[in-house]
Amino acid sequence: MKIGIDAGGTLIKIVQEHDNRRYYRTELTTNIQKVIDWLNNEEIETLKLTGGNAGVIADQIHHSPEIFVEFDASSKGLEILLDEQGHQIEHYIFANVGTGTSFHYFDGKDQQRVGGVGTGGGMIQGLGYLLSNITDYKELTNLAQNGDRDAIDLKVKHIYKDTEPPIPGDLTAANFGNVLHHLDNQFTSANKLASTIGVVGEVITTMAITLAREYKTNHVVYIGSSFNNNQLLREVVENYTVLRGFKPYYIENGAFSGALGALYL
Ligand code: ADP
Repeated sequence: MKIGIDAGGTLIKIVQEHDNRRYYRTELTTNIQKVIDWLNNEEIETLKLTGGNAGVIADQIHHSPEIFVEFDASSKGLEILLDEQGHQIEHYIFANVGTGTSFHYFDGKDQQRVGGVGTGGGMIQGLGYLLSNITDYKELTNLAQNGDRDAIDLKVKHIYKDTEPPIPGDLTAANFGNVLHHLDNQFTSANKLASTIGVVGEVITTMAITLAREYKTNHVVYIGSSFNNNQLLREVVENYTVLRGFKPYYIENGAFSGALGALYL
C-alpha cells in the first residue's frame, strides 16, 4: 500500500492507494498517536509525508518516509485533482484555506507562495466559539448554515439608500458594520456564526482576487478542509469571486491535495 500524509495544524489528511483505488480519510491532529500506531502496524510499500507535523510522525515510526515541503505537495496534488475533475486551466491562484490561509501562484509548471492571511478555519472555530460557546466543529458549522447576516453586515446598498452606488450594492462595505444600527435585534448564534464565516470568506476572496489581478489570471482555485461541512463558506467565496469578476473553482477532495501530491512528488 502507498500512503501519503499531510499532518497539519488541525487535521491529518491521509491518502491511501492500492489496487488502483484511492481512499481519503482524516484524523484530528490531537489524535496523531493513533495515526503513528496504525502506521507501525501496516504493510507499507511507500510512505510520503508533508505538513507541519510530518516530523513528529517521522520520528516515531519504523519506516523511513520521505518528507516534502507542503506547498509543493499541495500544488502537485491540486494539479492531479484539477485534471481528474476536468478543469483544464494552465495558470491560476490557489488559496489553501486551512487553519490559516496560504496563497500560491501556479504558472503552469511550479508554484510560488505569494501570500498568507490569518483568517481561515482556525478563526471560524476560535471566534465561533467566543460567539457561541460551541467547540464541536460539526455543531458549529451546522448551526451557521442557516444564519442570517443581514442585521450584522453592512452592504454597500445599505449606505447608498436612494442613489445608485458606484460599485455593486451587494458587496460588503463593513463586516459586522450593521450591528449598531440594529441594537433592537436578537443576535442569535446562528447569525453571528454566519457573519464570521462571511468575513473569513470575503477576506480570503479579496486577497485571492487581488493576487489574481497581479499575476494576470482569471482563475482562482479554493482548497482546504475549512470547506468541510461548510457549504456556506463555499458559497461566500464562490459568489464573492464571481461578483468581483473572477472565475472560482472549488475542488472536490481539495483538502487532500498535500497528502496526494506528496505521494506523486
Ligand atoms: P491544517 O493543515 O492547518 O490542519 P486543514 O486544511 O486541514 O488545515 O483545515 C483545518 C480546518 O478545517 C479547521 O480549522 C476547521 O475549520 C476545518 N475542519 C474540517 N473538519 C474538521 C473537524 N472534523 N474538526 C476540526 N476542524 C475541522
